[in-house]
Amino acid sequence: MARERVCDQCGRWVADKETLYEMDVTLRAEAPSVLEISEEDLESAGQDAWNEIVDMLEGMSPEQVEEAVDQVHETHRFLLCHECRGVIHKILRRHRIPFEP
Ligand SMILES: [Zn+2]
Repeated sequence: MARERVCDQCGRWVADKETLYEMDVTLRAEAPSVLEISEEDLESAGQDAWNEIVDMLEGMSPEQVEEAVDQVHETHRFLLCHECRGVIHKILRRHRIPFEP
């Protein structure tokens, strides 16, 4: 479903003829975590490792699982108008945050 054409930063409605910008922000844990273990890792680690993970997840509430996933990988999408995109662009340049393409 398409989101309303409203800038998440200033709240301004962006007309159809104006460009609306999407900004994705991903916060990702740098260190590998139990939730990032691949199927291949599990196969080579064997049944014990698998059981350990299943036990751990079963002992957690849905909220705890969600929080654990958020701690590893969290993505937010913001819609920005032209002016707010310019502000964000200047901030990124000033702090020289390296973004991967
Ligand atoms: Zn704006």
